[in-house]
Amino acid sequence: MRDKTLCVKRPEVSHEGFASLAIPTYRASTIVFDSAVDYANRKYRGPDGYTYGLHGTPTSRALEGSITALEQGLRTVLVPSGQAAITIVFLTVLMPGDSVLIPDTAYPPVAGFCENYLKPRGIAYRIYDPMIGAGIDELIDETVKLIWTESPGSTTMEIQDIPAIVAAAKAHGILTGCDNTWATPMYFKPLAHGMDFSSMALTKYVGGHSDLLMGSIAIKDIDLHRRLKDTMRMIGLGVSPDDCALALRGMETMGVRLAHSGRVAIEFAKRIESRVAPGLVLHPALPAAPGHDVWKRDFAGASGVFSVVIPAHAEEALPDLLTAAKAFSIGASWGGTHSLLAPMTISRAIDENAHAGSILRISIGLEDEDDLWADLEPIVDLVASESVIAKTA
Ligand SMILES: *Cc1c(COP(=O)(O)O)cnc(C)c1O
Repeated sequence: MRDKTLCVKRPEVSHEGFASLAIPTYRASTIVFDSAVDYANRKYRGPDGYTYGLHGTPTSRALEGSITALEQGLRTVLVPSGQAAITIVFLTVLMPGDSVLIPDTAYPPVAGFCENYLKPRGIAYRIYDPMIGAGIDELIDETVKLIWTESPGSTTMEIQDIPAIVAAAKAHGILTGCDNTWATPMYFKPLAHGMDFSSMALTKYVGGHSDLLMGSIAIKDIDLHRRLKDTMRMIGLGVSPDDCALALRGMETMGVRLAHSGRVAIEFAKRIESRVAPGLVLHPALPAAPGHDVWKRDFAGASGVFSVVIPAHAEEALPDLLTAAKAFSIGASWGGTHSLLAPMTISRAIDENAHAGSILRISIGLEDEDDLWADLEPIVDLVASESVIAKTA
């Protein structure tokens, strides 16, 4: 071969005796075939065959396989974000005339997707009280094709009775899905509780370092896997093998990160609860939390995110205390090594008065606990204090 060809073709390199613990990052758009016949038959390679880089590489399959094993599923589909993990499920199973039930506490962009994307295309949605449990049965009519859940709910942390919702759905032959980002399959296994879809924002605890965006959908039914993959192929979505490598690396330390962050979060939640007015600390492990008994029954642990309701008297002084924090950073997303504070305002459709003010979401990372508490203490003192107006009067 001549020089220009030698620049392009690679020499055969021996892999003999090379064994590494790292998963190689296989980048590919083109997948090459040994023969023209193989190429012609590529669509018969089955759910795990390689056909085109967008649809999977050994790197993405390694990540899918790891998540499938943790979720106790059959296959996992990787998507570009946690939000996409939800929308791809909805787009796969819902047709015009159908409807979906979503909890009032779902990750907020879910209701936005239903209202602004699905509704104009003839797919309806209904928001339900996350604590509805078996009462969901009354909301099921012949149009409902999917019940979505998220447990605990975003920011306000209500734990849902997943087995009761699954029982009602199964009685009507309806599919169910759970956003499992907070617990991760380390602490809750939606598929084992009868859910059809378990989604995660890998952006959070699996990535674990605030530098990755990806989502996963685990399923235990090969036909649902095919339908999800069809949606991905038709829309033209896939994930980068480099991102998969980051997620695989993040996942190796997820167990110890979760154990540490979860322990510190519970300690802080209890300490704050002991100092402030009742009901202000939102953490499923606190006995007063909505769904605490269900959490104890169904979950194997708690991750490192919880919230504190900010009473009206504390709202004005809070921003300066957040800005002054040294160990915590201010920002959305969570589940990484860096601890985060995010002041949130919540709007609920079912009970408009519930959590009408601000809520501080706290994500515990891996910094020294005393440094973190030094940032939180003045905030807790402020929340615990009498109204500033009452004091100065
Ligand atoms: C962050 C989050 C998402 C969205 O994940 P992205 O990767 O940021 O799109 C979905 N669900 C929950 C519960 C989340 O916290």
